[in-house]
Amino acid sequence: MSKTKNQKFIFITGGVVSSVGKGLVSASLATLLEARGFKVSVIKCDPYINVDPGTLSPFQHGEVYVTKDGAETDLDLGHYERFTNLDLNKNHSITTGQIYQTVIDKERKGDYLGRTVQVIPHITNEIKSRIFKGAGQAEITVVEIGGTIGDIEGLPFIEAIRQIRIEKGIENTIFAHVTFIPFIPSAGELKSKPSQHSVKALREVGLQPDFLLCRSAQTINKELKEKLALFSNLSVENIIPVPDAESIYEIPLFLNKEKLDQKLIQRMSLKTTLASLSKWKNIVQKIKAPKKETTIGLVGKYVHLKDSYQSIHEALMHGGLAKQIKVNIEYIDSEKKLSSKDLKSLNGILVPGGFGDRGIDGKLKAIQYCRENSVPFFGICLGMQMAAIEFAQNVCKIKGAGSRESKNGKSIQNFIIDVMPNQKPLTYKGGSMRLGSYPCLLLKNSKIQKIYKKDLIEERHRHRYEFNFNFTEQFEKKGMKVAGVHKGYENLVEALEIPKHPWFIGVQFHPEFQSKPTKPHPLFVSFIETCEKNKTT
Ligand code: GLN
Repeated sequence: MSKTKNQKFIFITGGVVSSVGKGLVSASLATLLEARGFKVSVIKCDPYINVDPGTLSPFQHGEVYVTKDGAETDLDLGHYERFTNLDLNKNHSITTGQIYQTVIDKERKGDYLGRTVQVIPHITNEIKSRIFKGAGQAEITVVEIGGTIGDIEGLPFIEAIRQIRIEKGIENTIFAHVTFIPFIPSAGELKSKPSQHSVKALREVGLQPDFLLCRSAQTINKELKEKLALFSNLSVENIIPVPDAESIYEIPLFLNKEKLDQKLIQRMSLKTTLASLSKWKNIVQKIKAPKKETTIGLVGKYVHLKDSYQSIHEALMHGGLAKQIKVNIEYIDSEKKLSSKDLKSLNGILVPGGFGDRGIDGKLKAIQYCRENSVPFFGICLGMQMAAIEFAQNVCKIKGAGSRESKNGKSIQNFIIDVMPNQKPLTYKGGSMRLGSYPCLLLKNSKIQKIYKKDLIEERHRHRYEFNFNFTEQFEKKGMKVAGVHKGYENLVEALEIPKHPWFIGVQFHPEFQSKPTKPHPLFVSFIETCEKNKTT
């Protein structure tokens, strides 16, 4: 059980539809509470049975977000970190898979002393103890329950938070239900009925919401608020409109305008100063009044679900913020046959991470185009690996150059991307990947070192394969340089660049995971600035 007395919990559930924006609402609440000086924590509970989203296809579930400690987590943790000063870890991402794995392990060890192991209390106890662990020493913890109310998988989580309310008391627990108010064009109206049903479903499992956060295309009017309040057993003040925002970073400001933070604080009997939100206001102002713009092509195979590149999308936006550059992103399917014509209108190209063989030809084509035409190129993880292969094939003329990851292994004579012999001493967590934060030394006078203005950096990783260090000499002779290496295992290459090119950098790590609107990542800032200047095309 929690060690911290009077620790507060705000539980966020969702109703009516998925993708209603619970993650952004949770992140925004954390922003507001942090801005009022509270020590906060945020936890995501995912009711699916996968142990972590690492094995889920990005086509189905969007991006896998990687924390500093190497946990493969739900993309909502990305929002939480971008919106706050928090450094989250594996304790902030809870799944049904983890819960059952622990309970079954305990059962096998005989920890339950012959008792029948049941959802209540054993599964719910494990959920509660993980929520308390994720809360740590925080004064207020926002706990987002994934999925939609009524899902079978979500029930043990709902039961666990119901029990937490009993244990901790009303003053220390808040239930906020995020719901969707659809606009029916033929009636010309916003409709409250699905939300009424959703609240009913919530009450059937023992939760009376304290706040209803109403997501809708337009803001809801007084009558609708009154109707929702009546059917939800709430006062009108606790019906909070959350209309669509032009920028996601505007949501904390919306909620603050609705005095939600103030109401939550009152409800929890906490004392606080006013929220200092000037930083966020400034960000939103800059986003809304761009001075210049640039168009970036993002060449990948998961482009049909934009969530797959969520952190990259955000990092590119942050990159534009410093100089008030609006970043237009064109998502280009790497599985389509690409020609120079398709790429001509772009001011720069980013090839993101990915797995497997599909879409590789499109990526190689885009990289070759950038290299030969002095178009800014940014390769991330698989993007860097592909840049190395393209260079090996077309510049170094290395026969049958390819990656160990390729299924087409027979035609590969030279593995430019390979499993390196000294990969093993690295700490491997979760499967066989290099995961989480690792130190990297940037080479003196390299472009990347000048961008970071540092020699030693720490960036997050999620990959199996590495650049084959044995090809370094051949590459360097032809103009592609090793610009960063793992500190401690210097033949693990972390960054490659072409110094003669205006901006051609590939990194083995994922810089996008550390970019925040309040702290844009230097690589993205530099890339966007260069792309904007490259508008002569
Ligand atoms: N598939 C590559 C590897 O495993 C790259 C991974 C990535 O881009 N995240 O090394």
